[in-house]
Amino acid sequence: MRVAILAVQGAFIEHRKKLESLGAECIELRKKEDLEQPFDGLILPGGESTVQGKLLRELEMYDSLKEKIESGMPVLATCAGLILLAEHLSNDEHVYFGTLPVTVRRNAYGRQLGSFHTDAEVKGIGEVPMTFIRAPYIETADEQVQVLAHVDDRIVAVQYGAQIGLSFHPELDADSRIHEKFLGLIADCIKNNNCRKN
Ligand code: GLN
Repeated sequence: MRVAILAVQGAFIEHRKKLESLGAECIELRKKEDLEQPFDGLILPGGESTVQGKLLRELEMYDSLKEKIESGMPVLATCAGLILLAEHLSNDEHVYFGTLPVTVRRNAYGRQLGSFHTDAEVKGIGEVPMTFIRAPYIETADEQVQVLAHVDDRIVAVQYGAQIGLSFHPELDADSRIHEKFLGLIADCIKNNNCRKN
């Protein structure tokens, strides 16, 4: 099982460490040629979505990644990654991949609460630690989207097909169950229809 981590900007190293500790092989996507290697799942890490979105285009990685996501490749998107997946942003005119039918609000927590830590229930997993850093939340989700977690009545985790979108940063806490869930999705995908796409 090989997982590709978008590594043009942001918090990608922490995802790599987490996934390797769970036995997954990782590659980093920094340039177009990196996409020539086969992989089975994709991480869109936290960072700055505007920078990542711009670099995806400039580095000519956008079309290929969008196609993989649309064809069902499992994706774990955290924070800025969630912004890249969202079909709509309520306070920004950009749309990046637009493959996840939700409306996301960027930098949604006020200044004092710019960064915070809490624990909350994630459907099918239990209570997990959650670190939020200038985080977005999900304002609305289409009917077909499964809501996995709320914090203070705000949606902070969703799944739609093989796309998981999170407002928080599971790679920054010691708990590994979210990444385990993601690797489980990849394993199912490989078993059912081979999601390794070039
Ligand atoms: N505020 C960032 C953005 O809008 C996201 C923050 C994060 O990824 N920790 O892209």
